Amino acid sequence: MLGQMKMYSKSSTTVFTVVMFFLCSHTCARSWADQKKISKKAIKLQQKVLLVGLDGWRWDFVEKHKEKLPNIMSLQKHGVAAGYAQNVLPTNTFPNFYSIVTGLYPEQHGIIDNQMYDTKQKKKFSMKTTDSKWWNEAEPIWVTNQAQGFKSGLCYWPGYNVKIKGRYPSYVQSKEQINQAIEGKPISHNKRIDLSLKWLNKSDVTFVAVYFEDIDEAIHGSGDAKVRNAMTTLDKTFDYLKQKLDTLSLGHTVNVLVIGDHGGKNVSYKKIIRLKDYIDMRAQAIAGIGKTFVSIYPKPGHLDKIYKALKDAHPNMTVYRKQELPHHMHIKDNNRTAPLVLLADPGWVIDSDFEPKQYFEGKFYKGEHGYSNLNRDMNPGFFAFGPCFKSGLKIEKIRTIDLYPLMCHIIGLHPQNSAGSLQNVIGLLNNKCLK
Ligand SMILES: [Zn+2]
Repeated sequence: MLGQMKMYSKSSTTVFTVVMFFLCSHTCARSWADQKKISKKAIKLQQKVLLVGLDGWRWDFVEKHKEKLPNIMSLQKHGVAAGYAQNVLPTNTFPNFYSIVTGLYPEQHGIIDNQMYDTKQKKKFSMKTTDSKWWNEAEPIWVTNQAQGFKSGLCYWPGYNVKIKGRYPSYVQSKEQINQAIEGKPISHNKRIDLSLKWLNKSDVTFVAVYFEDIDEAIHGSGDAKVRNAMTTLDKTFDYLKQKLDTLSLGHTVNVLVIGDHGGKNVSYKKIIRLKDYIDMRAQAIAGIGKTFVSIYPKPGHLDKIYKALKDAHPNMTVYRKQELPHHMHIKDNNRTAPLVLLADPGWVIDSDFEPKQYFEGKFYKGEHGYSNLNRDMNPGFFAFGPCFKSGLKIEKIRTIDLYPLMCHIIGLHPQNSAGSLQNVIGLLNNKCLK
C-alpha cells in the first residue's frame, strides 16, 4: 500500500508539477502584471481637492502676521504660495467665491454681487436666497464632480444649500448645524475640518469646500486687533488640519487649496459720499445696493437725471452707465447688472440713502471691501499643499478664475467652459500630477 502510494504519489507529483508549471506560467505572470498595474495605480491614486475659503484673507496678511502663523508659514514653505491672487470685481464675497468654483467672471456666472436686483425677474437676491434660478447660469465644480460620478461635500461654502443644475451637494452640514449658523452660531473650526475630512475619507468623495468667516468679520467689525486674534485661531486650525490629514492617512490623496475672496481696507467716516447731497435718490430710484460698489436701479425714465446729477459730483466716486463699464471689469454683460454703477475710491463709502443709517455713523464697521480689484488692498492671498503640488514654490500672482481648471485637472474631471486657463497654473503641479 505504501509502495502503491509512493508510485501514485510520484506520478501525481509529476502531474501536479506539470499543472503547476502551466498554471504558474500564466497566473504568476498575470499576477506580476497585476502587481505592476497596482503599483502604477498606487503611484497615481485618485487625487482629491479640499478647497478652503478664507473670507477677507488679504494677500499680505501672512507677511504682516507671520509671527502668529508658524503653521501656515510651514505649510507654505512645503507647498506653493502666490504673492497675491487676482480676484474679480466687485471684490465682494459671493461673486468671488462663485468665480473660484466656476472659473467664470460675475457677468458670466450671474452672481454679480452679494445683493442684486434682476430687472427681468423683478426680484431681489440676498446672501440668503436659495432659489436655483439665480445660481443656474453656471455649474460649480461640485456639481460637475457629481455629474461625472464622484461625490462632493460643502461646509458653509456659499451655495451649499442651493440646488444648482438639478443637484444639491452630496454632503453638507446637518440641518441642526445649518440652523445654528443662521442664528449666528456656526460650528467650530475644528468641527468643520472633522466634517470635511470625514467626507474626503470616503472613497467616492473627491471634492470638498469649507468656508471660514472670521477674518472678514474682524476686518468689518473691529479693525486690526481682532484681525490679529483671528489669525492666531486660523493658524491653529491649519495645524489641526495637518494633524488630521496625517492621522487619517489622507496626505497622499488630498490636495489643499487655500484662497481668500477679497482683502479689506480701513474706512474713515470722514470720507462718506452722500448721494442725497446731489439728488433725491428715494424719489428717483427703486433701489441702491452696496456702499463701495453701488448698483443704482432708477425708476423708469429717471436714469439720465440721476446720471447727470452724479457724474461729476464727487472726485472720489466714478459713475458708469451700464454700457460704459470697461470690458476688463467683466461685469457689464448680465441682466442683473444695474443701469448705473458707482465705484468709490478705496477708503471712501457711498451713502445711497437706501442702506441702514447706523452703518454711516461708523458704529459697527471699521473696514470695507468691494472696491476695484485693481487695488492691491482688495486682493486676497493663495497657497496650496498636497501630493500634486510642488514644494517651496513661490509665484508672483495667480488669477482666482484659474483655480477651477486646476482643481478639475487634479481630480481628473472634464471641465465646463470657463474663462480660466490650466496653462497658467499647470506649473504649480509636480510630475506626478501633470497628466
Ligand atoms: Zn467676503
